Amino acid sequence: MVVILLGPPGVGKGTQAVRLADSVGWEHVSTGDLLRAARRAGTELGRKAQAFMDAGELVPDSLILDLVRDHLKGIPPEAGILLDGFPRTTAQAEGLDGVLEAVGRRVDQVVVFEAPDEELIRRLSGRRSCPECGAVFNVHFTPPKQEGICDRCGAALVHRADDKAETVENRLKVYAAQTEPLIEWYGRSEAAVVAVSAEAPVDDVQREFRKAVGH
Ligand code: AMP
Repeated sequence: MVVILLGPPGVGKGTQAVRLADSVGWEHVSTGDLLRAARRAGTELGRKAQAFMDAGELVPDSLILDLVRDHLKGIPPEAGILLDGFPRTTAQAEGLDGVLEAVGRRVDQVVVFEAPDEELIRRLSGRRSCPECGAVFNVHFTPPKQEGICDRCGAALVHRADDKAETVENRLKVYAAQTEPLIEWYGRSEAAVVAVSAEAPVDDVQREFRKAVGH
């Protein structure tokens, strides 16, 4: 099963994906996490991606597609995959179809998480992320057990530079202009498209999400 998670920044895709992947043993593939790892490692990709990420702009499609192609190669063909933050443009969606077709797979389902902009802005301002394992917390709603420390791996949590107010507004605009059209695009494909309201508490959203993907 290949499932794509769509939804604006701050809607909780990462939180929901990590929880589901941890409990059912699926692969969670977050292009944002892969890019942040590349930046920390100081690779060429990390250096190329840096300015786009800091401005809240999308990293060019060709770089992202190479990254995803390489990463998907390492995933066993029978493993469930949750794609979080990818694809973000129709060119990426077309590229993904090609990558999956080459290994006899296809996008089975698209889950669209929804919440109003005011709520997204509130969540992003409280979000704290683990730079090591990608776990996401929120100081208001889902704080870590020990302040500033990741529950999963013990690393120090950070408030991502692109979660600060100046950049968030641009990320929301970029989502509306470049990524939201994918909802219609997948509506015309064979994949099942399901909307999940992400306004409820995390556990309730997780229940709806699991129902949507049959777990
Ligand atoms: P995220 O953690 O998914 O919010 O991603 C953080 C940033 O990484 C985004 O604002 C983009 O600059 C970049 N990024 C992540 N995934 C993609 C993608 N699929 N296409 C282009 N840029 C991406």
